[in-house]
Amino acid sequence: MTAVKVFPLRIGRTKVPYGQFYGGLDTFSLTEFVQDKDHFIWVPIHAFLIEHPSAGPFLVDTGIGPGQADEHARYYGGSIMEYLMDDDEYDLPAGERIEVQLERHGYRPADIRGVVVTHFHEDHIGSLNLFPGAEVYLGRDEYEARDSKALGLVPLAYPRSIEAVENWRPVDFTGPAIGGFDRSADILGDGSLVLLPTPGHSPGSTSALVRTDSSDLLLTGDAMYTIRHLAVDHVRQMQTDNAETFVDSIRRIQWLHRALPNLVILTSHDHTEYGEHLRGALAGGELSEADLSWAKAWERETFDPVFGINPAKLPRFVPAADGDPVGLAR
Ligand SMILES: [Zn+2]
Repeated sequence: MTAVKVFPLRIGRTKVPYGQFYGGLDTFSLTEFVQDKDHFIWVPIHAFLIEHPSAGPFLVDTGIGPGQADEHARYYGGSIMEYLMDDDEYDLPAGERIEVQLERHGYRPADIRGVVVTHFHEDHIGSLNLFPGAEVYLGRDEYEARDSKALGLVPLAYPRSIEAVENWRPVDFTGPAIGGFDRSADILGDGSLVLLPTPGHSPGSTSALVRTDSSDLLLTGDAMYTIRHLAVDHVRQMQTDNAETFVDSIRRIQWLHRALPNLVILTSHDHTEYGEHLRGALAGGELSEADLSWAKAWERETFDPVFGINPAKLPRFVPAADGDPVGLAR
C-alpha cells in the first residue's frame, strides 16, 4: 500500500502586528490589533495537501484567494472589514494560488474529495469557493458559530468564500482518547487522518493529526501560530476567543507531543526556522529520518521537558533599519 503523504502549500503571506503573534502575555488587545501600525511582520500562509492512497486527495485549509490580496475594496466593499483591514494585508503571487499549486501535483480543484477547515478565519477559507463539491469537515462548534457573534467580526469577511459549499460535514468528536485529548474523530476510519478539538483561538478550532509511515504530523491551524507557542507559559499569541480554553488546548498538544515520539507540529503561519525547514523537508510528501531527527534536536534545544522555553529562543521584534513599520520577528 502506498503511504499517506503530506505536502505543505504556501498560499501567499499576511502582514500582521507583532503583538498579534507574540503579545498574548501582555494582553495585546483587539484595539491594539487594529491601531498598532508600527510593528508589523510578514508571516506565511499555509494549506496542506494530503494524498491518501485510497480515500483520494484532501486539503487542510485553503489559504487566501486573489480577491483578498489584490482587490481589497471590491472584495470587502460593503463590510466594515474594508476599513478594519489594511489593503496590503495579504500578498498572493500568481504562482502561489492554491489552484496553481494543485495543478503542479496533478489535480484540478474538482478532484479534491474533502477539505478540513481548521477554523473559520478568512486566511484559512479564502479559497474554499473553489471546492464547492468537496466534503467540508470542521468542528461542530465552529460550524454552529459561523453566523454568530461568537466569531466576532469574522462572518462579515467571508460570505463569498463559503456560499458555494454544498457538503458541510460538522464533526462530533466521539472517537477514542489520544495523548492529552479525551476524544477524537477519525474521519477516514483507518487512523490516518484524525481530527482533534483545539478550541480557544475560535469556538471550534480543530487540529488534524496525519499519521504517515515515517512520522506523525499535527496540523494545528492557528491553535498555535508557531512551534514556539508550545511554550504557552512564555510565548503566547493574542487571544481572540477564550483564553482559558486556548491554554488548555495547548496543554493537550504538549501531552500529545510527549505521547507520540515521532510527532512534528506544522502550524499555518510558522515563520521560524523549524517551520521553514520542515515544510522544505516535506517537498516529497514524507519526512526522512534525518529531518525528523533535526526537528527533535531543534525541539530539545528550544524547550525544557515541561515546555519552558530556552531564553535564547524567545521571540523579539527587530525594527527595519529604514524606519519602515514592517520589521522582523526573531
Ligand atoms: Zn490564520
